[in-house]
Amino acid sequence: NTQYPDLVIVGAGLFGLTVAQQAVEHAGARVHIIDVRDHIGGNAYSYFDKETGAEIHKYGAHLFHTSNERVWKYVNRFTEFTNYVHRVYATHDGVVYPLPINLGTINQFFGKAYTPAEAKALIEEQAGELAGTDPQNLNDKGIQLIGRPLYEAFIKNYTAKQWQTDPAELPASIIKRLPVRFNYDNRYFKDTWEGLPKDGYTAWFERMIDDPRITVELGVDFFDETQPYNRKALQAAGVPVVYTGPIDRYFDYELGDLKWRTVDFKEVRYAEDDHFGCPVMNFSDSDVPYTRAIEFRNFNPERADSYTPGRTVVWEEYSRFAERGDEPYYPINTDEDKALYARYAEKAAAEPRTVFGGRLGTYKYYDMHNVIDTALTAYEEQVAPLLG
Ligand code: FAD
Ligand code: UDP
Repeated sequence: NTQYPDLVIVGAGLFGLTVAQQAVEHAGARVHIIDVRDHIGGNAYSYFDKETGAEIHKYGAHLFHTSNERVWKYVNRFTEFTNYVHRVYATHDGVVYPLPINLGTINQFFGKAYTPAEAKALIEEQAGELAGTDPQNLNDKGIQLIGRPLYEAFIKNYTAKQWQTDPAELPASIIKRLPVRFNYDNRYFKDTWEGLPKDGYTAWFERMIDDPRITVELGVDFFDETQPYNRKALQAAGVPVVYTGPIDRYFDYELGDLKWRTVDFKEVRYAEDDHFGCPVMNFSDSDVPYTRAIEFRNFNPERADSYTPGRTVVWEEYSRFAERGDEPYYPINTDEDKALYARYAEKAAAEPRTVFGGRLGTYKYYDMHNVIDTALTAYEEQVAPLLG
């Protein structure tokens, strides 16, 4: 007979780690974390590449940014941050431009020296074909925001590659978060705080759970009934559970599958010190099959001395719809998906001793800071009462 701890957490991602840390700090609970993967950190996990010395973000580039003071204070308890500021460039038709679309992009694209007011007037004129309408699809929204020439250069083909869907069939909401700036500001994020964990993501996560009351077991699937920390056994024993896996999987997909996008990575190594000269290069055109390429060493220029000269590693990103068994990365969130999620959420609310959280457990396009914030709140409001 297994002696169960006070709390079992399914998933060693940021949601699970934050709840575990809080349960020990505030309730002195004994917490057992399981994860089906062979490492902690969930999708934010990283490792150091032996050949080059670069820190590889295993599930795609992760940049920490937040304007939430509670979260910023919390994360600083476990790691220092570098002064990294995220900037992205895009290759279109053999020329490199700064993103997000700003005055530098506009002037380079049109070969001009427009002032902010002149550029604004030009874009307004070019966007004029859809003035006064309320576009519901991404294609029309894009043209209305930045005019057809810039839309077709930087948005149309990139979006089609990323979503594998004609932009005319995608909701306009996807690009509402892509700003156009009539100055030369090319900071990608607008948050108050931003940076990368000084000694890597995984060192940060290890410090969060560095306590003898927290145990971690890797390579364990919650739905595998041959292991003691499975759904049925924990339910029967009345042990409180925090579940951060996919919500539809928890209910055996009985209402249907929620839709996700996933990403495949192709690793390429170059015998060069620096291949792109920046950490992220987007490829705006359809002749390049991947959306963007990540050159990891450029996220941490402060580590230059520890890198292998003449070697660099790049990951090319290919985006596609996720099938069951793929890693679910981005919730697609059509109206149909949202309605289906709402029905699963109702079932989840009826599970008295299981708390659902995180990106997969709540089917939300959350960044790391959102996950930490919701985990701190979920601990207070939902988990602490279960610990008695
Ligand atoms: P996850 O990290 O997904 O953790 C869930 C864990 O549960 C996983 O480790 C999984 O193995 C485990 N699990 C699932 N099912 C089971 C099971 N049956 N049994 C046992 N364990 C199970 N955020 C940012 O702030 N900045 C970024 O730049 C950024 N870039 C991103 C890029 C990509 C490609 C992706 C996919 C995400 C990005 N994010 C970014 C979002 C960030 O990854 C998430 O917000 C955060 O890591 C989610 O934490 P989580 O704990 O909710 O989920
Ligand atoms: N996008 C684009 N061209 C670019 C970068 C982004 O058209 O060069 C659009 C695309 O539709 C994408 C959305 O903007 O889905 C959000 O992109 P972002 O890089 O902010 O999101 P991420 O993929 O990192 O979540």
